[in-house]
Amino acid sequence: MHDTYHFQEIFSLLQSTLKTIQKPLVSRTTWDHIQKKPFTVLISCLLSLRTKDEVTEKASIRFLKNHDTPEKIIKLSERTIQQYIFPVGFYKIKAKRIKEISQTLITDYGGNVPNDFQKLLSLKGVGRKTANIVMVYGFNDNGYLPIDTHCHRIPNRLGWVHTKTPEETEKQLLAILPKQYWQDFNHLFVQFGQTICTPLSPHCSTCPLTNYCPKITVGTHR
Ligand code: SF4
Repeated sequence: MHDTYHFQEIFSLLQSTLKTIQKPLVSRTTWDHIQKKPFTVLISCLLSLRTKDEVTEKASIRFLKNHDTPEKIIKLSERTIQQYIFPVGFYKIKAKRIKEISQTLITDYGGNVPNDFQKLLSLKGVGRKTANIVMVYGFNDNGYLPIDTHCHRIPNRLGWVHTKTPEETEKQLLAILPKQYWQDFNHLFVQFGQTICTPLSPHCSTCPLTNYCPKITVGTHR
């Protein structure tokens, strides 16, 4: 069954094509200026929602380098958090959520991020993508597949899945994608979606996957 999808060839091509492109901050092994740990991954992921990578990275470093624990964050006013994280998208709502989540972690989990997917999901403002990111990149648990817009769109174009929502894509990929590829799936597909298989007018004429891709639902392409 797995050969039908050419997983080995496609992952190998993506690894070699994207090796010089910077990974998104949460998926890098080490971070400059701030300690990478479940809490900083969680906050950086919250900041990244509806926000460009460059903006997220700068805001994460500016905010987290001196505020990398829930205890430090609850001492700040929402207004101060807003000033640190601006101009990330929805910075006012995010500042409120970050403070609420920090308080919940202190009250319910002794100031730690729970190493438990369902408990992460129960935190206000944390959805499946963020909970999956924290499990994979915060706790180094490769039993999860974070699905963002790129990770949803591209497997549909490749014909691996036929889904309408990221949740359905996650479910179908968990069933068909061999586990050896889970660790690299998110960051490779994010990088690929940002540079080659873009949402509008993907670069099919120069795409390394063109021989394996039925280009399902792709209209205009370059
Ligand atoms: S051939 Fe086009 S649609 Fe298919 S993966 Fe490449 S860029 Fe995306």
